[in-house]
Amino acid sequence: MSEKIMVTRSSLPPLDEYIDEIKSMWESHWLTNMGPKHNRLQKELCDYLGVSNIELVVNGHMALEMTLQAMALKGEVITTPFTFVSTTHAIVRNGLKPVFCDINPEDYTIDVSKLASLLSADTCAILPVHVYGNVCNVDEIADFAKKHGLKVIYDAAHTFGETYKGKGIGSYGDASCFSFHATKVFNTIEGGCVCYKEDHIGEKIYDLKDFGIHGPEEVSAVGANAKMNEFCAAMGLCNLKHVDECIKMRGRVYERYNENLDGIKGIKLNKIQKNVKSNYAYYPVVFEPDKFGADRDFVFERLYENGIMARKYFYPATNAMTCYEGRFNSYDTPVAGKISERVLTLPIYPELEPAEVDRICKVIRECGN
Ligand SMILES: *Cc1c(COP(=O)(O)O)cnc(C)c1O
Repeated sequence: MSEKIMVTRSSLPPLDEYIDEIKSMWESHWLTNMGPKHNRLQKELCDYLGVSNIELVVNGHMALEMTLQAMALKGEVITTPFTFVSTTHAIVRNGLKPVFCDINPEDYTIDVSKLASLLSADTCAILPVHVYGNVCNVDEIADFAKKHGLKVIYDAAHTFGETYKGKGIGSYGDASCFSFHATKVFNTIEGGCVCYKEDHIGEKIYDLKDFGIHGPEEVSAVGANAKMNEFCAAMGLCNLKHVDECIKMRGRVYERYNENLDGIKGIKLNKIQKNVKSNYAYYPVVFEPDKFGADRDFVFERLYENGIMARKYFYPATNAMTCYEGRFNSYDTPVAGKISERVLTLPIYPELEPAEVDRICKVIRECGN
């Protein structure tokens, strides 16, 4: 059998480049605590993402969790259950109540037409997710939030490097949180950042990420520890040099899938949205069993038997997970429920060969009518 194909493959820079980058640390012995690499990466990412303010942190989850905490929110947060569990955990772990809004079946982002019906006197914020690289309806969300005095925090973990109407995606909302986890388009091994609008939010996040320490004898806030270390920042500096090329290569894989799968009855492909410069982070496919002739789980199993690791992403929806089932409005999101049962994300990473894409698609085609 041919070699296994994983759903993703972490990007690594040429080893020499990483070694060159970390060499100086054997002279300085400066390994963490906002060292030169951390500060350089912070600045380079501001430029790359097209945003004015960034706080680098230890991972994407803590970016979300600390942003909600920094905003001192209380009450209900309207969010989507069609996401990685981190989004919902960040809300609940802050003592806030998630109010699940359904998604739209076109791009799987929050259905803005349902926001009004979920508003209550306790609503304090909206936490939408840019799913698979698809951008939320940021214009309508901004209008709605302004009208009702709500904060908007985007989970931008899937949209590294994207622009909407020519502006960096991290510049929308009061804050946007990115993940630089090993499996993402851009990685620092583990890592993340918050892009924020107001200075005082950045100051609070800084307090939270470094114990509230403001000097050798001055601790002025009750913070935690969520700093990005120098090895991770060095990985980021190296990977950032190659990320444009990586995105270009992902685009070719994406196109190859489209050529193979377009027009097959019962398979819905993802469309690149208007006004969006995509990063091709994921390749989601939705199966309509009655039209295609097989359901998602059947395709998943056949791929698995052929050494191809697709992913049921996101399944289950977070409001159907054991820890949340029955706790919140779990059953009011039929579209999210349906898509989560029908979607597969297919392997995509820069070096995936055209012949491998063809092989994956052949297995899929043979599952259908
Ligand atoms: C990866 C991811 C996170 C969490 O990021 P980590 O860096 O793994 O902590 C949050 N939300 C979404 C949508 C993600 O894909």
